[in-house]
Amino acid sequence: MTDLATASPGSEAGAVYRHDIPAECPWSRVLKRGQTLRIVDSEGQQAVDALLYCADDPAERYSAQDTLRAQGSAYIDLGTRLVSNKGRVMARITADSCGRHDTSAGCCSCESNAVRFGESTKYQHACRENFIMELSKHGLTKRDIVANLNFFMNVPIDPSGNFTVVDGISAPGNYVDITADMDVIFVISNCPQVNNPCNGFNPTPIRVAIWDPPAL
Ligand SMILES: [Zn+2]
Repeated sequence: MTDLATASPGSEAGAVYRHDIPAECPWSRVLKRGQTLRIVDSEGQQAVDALLYCADDPAERYSAQDTLRAQGSAYIDLGTRLVSNKGRVMARITADSCGRHDTSAGCCSCESNAVRFGESTKYQHACRENFIMELSKHGLTKRDIVANLNFFMNVPIDPSGNFTVVDGISAPGNYVDITADMDVIFVISNCPQVNNPCNGFNPTPIRVAIWDPPAL
């Protein structure tokens, strides 16, 4: 059996899929077991919100709580196993040139923007709207949105449990590789937030690429 933990590719040359996701836009794709998805922060300081669902039974989905508990860590980084609400490993982080990803701060929404940044921001596009649009392609709705991953988002958590979204540390071209342990629907919102520093106040495109598992 292929060791999924060592399946990360070296260059984009052998990728079976490549796509640039425009600023502020959603994207999704079924990732087959053993395939590796690379997310590239093309221009740096861009938060990438993500959700995972078991392709065979989307009622099984990414669980931030189970993932943090299983890891004993407050952050997502190299080697982290992304755990489902049924306690199974859905995917794992197999390469990471950034070193800091969040799964505590959730995704932005029109409602939370209005509360946090004022009524005038209520009609700005937000991750929750991106997720609703993209989930609809897979027969899922806003009821299926759960606590999500935030790749490249810098959310330090202090010893008392307080956290704040601060300036991103990802540089242009930083990437994270996620290798699937089961067939998953991988959903991304390229975060449109302009009211806090998670995107450097300037949302930018990101790039995704997918590799098949290495030949046995
Ligand atoms: Zn967002």
